[in-house]
Amino acid sequence: MFELENSLYNSKENVLNELLHNYGIDSTELQRKQLLGHIELLIEINERLNLTRITSIDDALILHILDSLLPLKVCDEFISCNRNYIDIGTGGGFPGLPLAIMSNNKTLLVDSIGKKVNAVQSMINEIGLEEKVKAEKLRAEEIPNTYKQKFDFVTFRAVAKTNILLEYAEPFLAFQGTLIVMKANVDEIELQDASQAAKIFGYENVSRETFELPNDFGHREILLYKKVTKSKIKLPRKPGMAKTNPFV
Ligand code: SAM
Repeated sequence: MFELENSLYNSKENVLNELLHNYGIDSTELQRKQLLGHIELLIEINERLNLTRITSIDDALILHILDSLLPLKVCDEFISCNRNYIDIGTGGGFPGLPLAIMSNNKTLLVDSIGKKVNAVQSMINEIGLEEKVKAEKLRAEEIPNTYKQKFDFVTFRAVAKTNILLEYAEPFLAFQGTLIVMKANVDEIELQDASQAAKIFGYENVSRETFELPNDFGHREILLYKKVTKSKIKLPRKPGMAKTNPFV
């Protein structure tokens, strides 16, 4: 596995370039500049707002940027298309903002906490991405009619168990749209519950891919589900129900 060497002596640009290259992720100089801009702004804003526990740029390049971009390794369509994409529970903009930087998708980043959304919108403006990326305060279970079945891609990183994410995502997804679930670890019980939930909510289980981050920063899993038929249950349910009273 690739290890960052002498990162202290490399410029941040070189470190990022090397990381992406080692994971086979193509990038332009502008994209790398924007990815670094996101991290620098995050660390600056984090001194006032609690957006992340990661305070070193080198660590953030792996744990936020590289990690956020792993879906590009498993979902070819994401980068090749010009579609509608939503990242739900985006926090400080992950994985949604890095994925927006690397694609042409029209991107919406949502979180239930207003101060996080305001911080992310200020980062979007500062990086100059306001034409294709927008942040909005939204709770997954309170989907406005205009967002129903609108999105071709939905991502979640570190938001809830997969069966709950399948329920949250269903009203947002267009027919044949893809749900991308990003996790540190998934056990067999979670997978079994997710498989049952996928049947109820009208998904086909597409793939499960695993990754190791460099410098022993941990194991990652990406699960892909495709929306292929109608949900057997009318969604969304009342806010909170998916978590307090899951179907599986
Ligand atoms: N996705 C980001 C990341 O990986 O860095 C943030 C992860 S953080 C652990 C979970 C985020 O999900 C929080 O910012 C929280 O406010 C948001 N969240 C939790 N439940 C949500 C819901 N029902 N709707 C929208 N956002 C939610």
